[in-house]
Amino acid sequence: MSRHIVLDLVERIGTLAAGDQVEVPISAGDADVVARWCERAGHQLVSIEGDRAVVRRGPLPGEATVRAAVPADRWPGTRLWIYTNFDCNLACDYCCARSSPQAPRRELGSDRIRRLVAEGARHGVTEVFLTGGEPFLLLDLDEIVRRCVEWVPTTVLTNGMLFKGRRLRMLRNMPRAGFALQISLDSASAALHDLHRGDGSWRRALAGIRTALEEGFRVRVAATVAGGEAGAEEVAAFHELLDGLGIDRSDQLIRPIAQRGFADDGVMLTVESLIPEVTVTADGVYWHPVAANHDDQLVTRELFPLDQAIDEVRRRFVQYRREADTAARRFTCA
Ligand code: SF4
Repeated sequence: MSRHIVLDLVERIGTLAAGDQVEVPISAGDADVVARWCERAGHQLVSIEGDRAVVRRGPLPGEATVRAAVPADRWPGTRLWIYTNFDCNLACDYCCARSSPQAPRRELGSDRIRRLVAEGARHGVTEVFLTGGEPFLLLDLDEIVRRCVEWVPTTVLTNGMLFKGRRLRMLRNMPRAGFALQISLDSASAALHDLHRGDGSWRRALAGIRTALEEGFRVRVAATVAGGEAGAEEVAAFHELLDGLGIDRSDQLIRPIAQRGFADDGVMLTVESLIPEVTVTADGVYWHPVAANHDDQLVTRELFPLDQAIDEVRRRFVQYRREADTAARRFTCA
């Protein structure tokens, strides 16, 4: 009888993600065996009542070591990225999402976004990023933002160029608490920004930053630059411009171009080299937002239940890190 219950436990626990629990039917006399097996295998015996035992799966082997090496706010599944849509008013030559005015919208929609954020928040998501494409092309973005902020702090990534008329009214409807705008501005003067994003885009992005600040929003500014374009003088001028606007240094970001999407140059990013940031599009769940259009970083086509996709990302991340660790320890040339 004991052999039967142990096999049953191994089989059932093997299908669970860390932290999930399962109810296992037991027979008289199995209670001690179940308790000893849980202790040895690193799982938690939640309860034994009558002919049922409830067991929670413990952490993946090695998870604690991997976790200790990753900042808490970067642990996979704490940040959730959502591609609201893929069309954009711009067609930047390095766009990792291959967005443009001609790109199909591929919209997730307010209801699915609300469900994703609610499920994510119940499973450890502490921050949501809405991106695209250009989210401000959607005329219900204010409703989407309000629904997200009900659960977790939310940031919308935007090129900042559409704050006019109806979309300005939509911006004004958005909450100030628990919400930020991340506006793209690649340089302190127009030349570099417009080179990649189109004539006149720098001037309009800067106007968008000023509008958002005047409306009382927290504004982060993010520059995307190739290695050779971000010399010390350019970086200093960028910070000086944003300091002058009253934007906190922690909200001034400079990041490299990723060799993804339209970019034929830039930093190569693979599932093994990235800390994953779970990313959902209308087409599936992906490993990281820089590769939300690339099948090599597709995790699953099933958007729901989201907790299963998050657990799968965590499981693979721990596995990659442990494999890299093992390889590094074994590979000595002398
Ligand atoms: S980089 Fe941003 S602004 Fe440029 S095309 Fe892509 S989504 Fe649009």
